[in-house]
Amino acid sequence: METSEIQVDGYEKVVRCRDQRSGLHALIAVHDTTLGPALGGLRMLPYVSEDEALFDVLRLAKGMTYKSAVAETGLGGGKSVILGDPATMKSPALFRAMGRFIETLGGLYITAEDMNIGIPDLEEVRKETRWVTGLSRESGSSGNPSPYTARGCVEGMRAVLEECFGSPAYEGRTILLQGVGAVGGRMAVMLKERGAEVLICDIDERRAGELSEQHDLVAVPDCDHLGVQCDVYAPCARGATINDDTIPRLRCAAVAGCANNQLLEPGHADRLRERGILYAPDYVINAGGIINVAAELRPGGYDEAYALQRIDRIYDNLKRVFQISRSEDISTRDAAARLAEQRLAAGRGAKSPS
Ligand code: NAD
Repeated sequence: METSEIQVDGYEKVVRCRDQRSGLHALIAVHDTTLGPALGGLRMLPYVSEDEALFDVLRLAKGMTYKSAVAETGLGGGKSVILGDPATMKSPALFRAMGRFIETLGGLYITAEDMNIGIPDLEEVRKETRWVTGLSRESGSSGNPSPYTARGCVEGMRAVLEECFGSPAYEGRTILLQGVGAVGGRMAVMLKERGAEVLICDIDERRAGELSEQHDLVAVPDCDHLGVQCDVYAPCARGATINDDTIPRLRCAAVAGCANNQLLEPGHADRLRERGILYAPDYVINAGGIINVAAELRPGGYDEAYALQRIDRIYDNLKRVFQISRSEDISTRDAAARLAEQRLAAGRGAKSPS
């Protein structure tokens, strides 16, 4: 196994690994460890070049620094990628080599699941390094993050309602969710239990139909859901759904959902603001999963009650983001970045000798 460093300005450590025997070609990016070791998922994609993989891993690692800083997980930001086709190139040897690669960093980087990586893959990684999170609950790990992501979104949405309507109450509010999978499906049920009128849509119409029947929700056709009037629109399916095409069609007071990278471009936060639509930055509201994972790294091990109490602080983080946005007259996206930078600066201050 050969590893080599790649010098990248603004990143603490970026490392490449090539292992002929297993076919592993992977990168790990550690963006910032001011607030703790760098945690971020491992993804596997058939990138066309190492440059493309590098661009992806750098962007994602930096995103994790900001996400963890706002969520106060006590972690820094990092990410890793395996270059290769997940349909044909996965093998136990590949993931064991990845485990040895992660182990070379001695805990500076901690991995988790991400795109095209499942628990069985991480179990192979775990045979070579202990710096793996998000394994099964039976193994003492924190388990499936989706219910915790859903809980954080539902708690966070209260801050959104309060900002828009002066009250965090769900009664009398209409929430439209696009995507009722692992996270969105749970959110829909929780929101209904809390008294909201819940409208759902999904490209998988059967899934939306079954859920609506079981829980007395209203299913709307996915193809023209944007024209449906609601108080909060929750993108819970995929990224980039907030863009030049969709923003003029939105009929809501706020956008707040679990999907990652909802804005096609950063400027779309300003376009929402110009339309008077409040945007809950995705990485702030959907941090429940990472907060839960972070809880397993505590000295005493994973404790669900502790994790839930930290997840509920997403409400406070969003209140703070909205307050910065108002007082600085900037978009909520920029306000979230400012909050992250404030927390990083405080961390650097606490570390530097007085
Ligand atoms: P999932 O795959 O379980 O669910 C996604 C749902 O969206 C599915 O029901 C799917 O049919 C639907 N969908 C996909 N494409 C669609 C489209 N074009 N139009 C309408 N519906 C569509 O995924 P998930 O784990 O619920 O995650 C949802 C989003 O939240 C993703 O963007 C994910 O990255 C993000 N997220 C998830 C977690 C987590 O803990 N699972 C944490 C943070 C962020």
